[in-house]
Amino acid sequence: MAKSKAVDELRDLLSDNKVRRALIETAGENAIAVIEALNKASQDEDIAKLLSLRVSDVRSVLNRLNEEGFTYYERTKDEETGWYSYFWTLDINKFKEWIKKKLLSKYERLRLMANEGEYYFCPHCGVDVVYSFEEAMDINFKCPKCNETLDLLEEEKVLKMMPKLDFSKLKRRFKKTKKRRKSK
Ligand SMILES: [Zn+2]
Repeated sequence: MAKSKAVDELRDLLSDNKVRRALIETAGENAIAVIEALNKASQDEDIAKLLSLRVSDVRSVLNRLNEEGFTYYERTKDEETGWYSYFWTLDINKFKEWIKKKLLSKYERLRLMANEGEYYFCPHCGVDVVYSFEEAMDINFKCPKCNETLDLLEEEKVLKMMPKLDFSKLKRRFKKTKKRRKSK
């Protein structure tokens, strides 16, 4: 029961584009497939077989995720050969923490940009690409991708754009930071 709930939860998290992008930025293009495979296998060789990837590629993803703190392994030694086997697990709670931190830092950065200067974004394509005033002027305030008119980046808009993965607590923390800054 508990396991299948975690699997559902993980599937929900991995279906979010912002999460997927953050994972790929962090651990490369195989990151999502490797995390999904951890439901079916726990050893790097098995995951590699499952995904038709090289073991070294799977290991490099697992090690990157381990550095981020949400996958961990147990090591067992084969007494005959002296070789070690690694059994990997994903900690879903740590993973959720990581997502919050990762996405918060991105939106925090955007919020600072909105307060410090004049930046523009495409309301259709989102805030992955943000243009300075000069850059926006060069393209006549039109999105090069979809031709939508660019919009001015403002703090309120950044707050509204924040992901909705049960981030209620996070938003509260976000607003507190804002008040504290103003009261200085
Ligand atoms: Zn656009």
